Amino acid sequence: MRAMVLDKPKQPLRLRDVPKPKPGGGQLLVRVSACAVCRTDLHVVDGELPNPKLPLILGHQIVGRVEDIGEEANSKFQIGDRVGIPWLGWTDGECVYCRSNRENLCDRARFTGYTIEGGYAEFTVADARFCFHLPDRYNDVEVAPLLCAGLIGYRSYRKTGGARRLGLYGFGNAAHLIAQIALYEGRDLFVFTRPGDTTTQQAAKKLGAVWAGGSDEMPSEKLDAAIVFASVGPLVPAALRALAKGGVVVCGGIHMTNIPSFPYADLWEERVITSVANLTRRDGEEFFDLAPRVPVQTKTETFPLEQANTALDRFRAGELTGTAVLTIGE
Ligand SMILES: [Zn+2]
Ligand SMILES: [Zn+2]
Repeated sequence: MRAMVLDKPKQPLRLRDVPKPKPGGGQLLVRVSACAVCRTDLHVVDGELPNPKLPLILGHQIVGRVEDIGEEANSKFQIGDRVGIPWLGWTDGECVYCRSNRENLCDRARFTGYTIEGGYAEFTVADARFCFHLPDRYNDVEVAPLLCAGLIGYRSYRKTGGARRLGLYGFGNAAHLIAQIALYEGRDLFVFTRPGDTTTQQAAKKLGAVWAGGSDEMPSEKLDAAIVFASVGPLVPAALRALAKGGVVVCGGIHMTNIPSFPYADLWEERVITSVANLTRRDGEEFFDLAPRVPVQTKTETFPLEQANTALDRFRAGELTGTAVLTIGE
């Protein structure tokens, strides 16, 4: 089968003909039709995340059809079903985290397109227990970005509790999806962009934000919570300063530049800084139930599988107008 393979970080992916995988016990063999590109893919390619499997097939927002089912898969899927494969690919089910409903923190977790093979390929295999049925209202390309930007964004959003005044630092893919849910749930939305990026600020206001401005500005009101989606450490103390008492800053990314020091007074009065790691299957079930009711709309730009490097380069350069989705034809 054709696959785009990362041999080593900081090198372009190579188009290779590699053996088609066989489903092991409990696994599905999936014919991939679309795989969205996540910022995490860039972090892996750029060598910012430790110890990826190498060589590696990237991609953890995978949509496809079940082509075969391995033994012992007492599966909720049948051959021909559409299936979504997310970042969390496997957990041990027995560590202290798994046993306390925190499988996202599992000590031995395996991650799709990072420590196990992903979806920049014609086929992939996945543990059926970690795959999702996807809402019918979306086609394969539309739904692909929901599998990570949507799910991990949703987990970040849930960590803000019932915050009425919600700030989003960075207005990329995940923020755009979560903004729609926040507005649907009646939150007041404050969007922070790169200073001077009035185009994005106007887009945020058009979507329904009550305020949009540069990340160097203070919002019109203090915030009850803020999610930092941009991987820029100095935004964390900036967000903290924008919080009301008892507010929370949630860091939604897997990688961030260093956070500069700040006065304790900015944290005092029970402000909280936390982060989000990975997802649980329950996050996925909740999100895929909610998304079509909003309905959350995705913006995408498609690239053929062979052009994965172009998609990554344009993402890195900030030149995409939507989430890049690789389409894998016959
Ligand atoms: Zn575990
Ligand atoms: Zn991702």
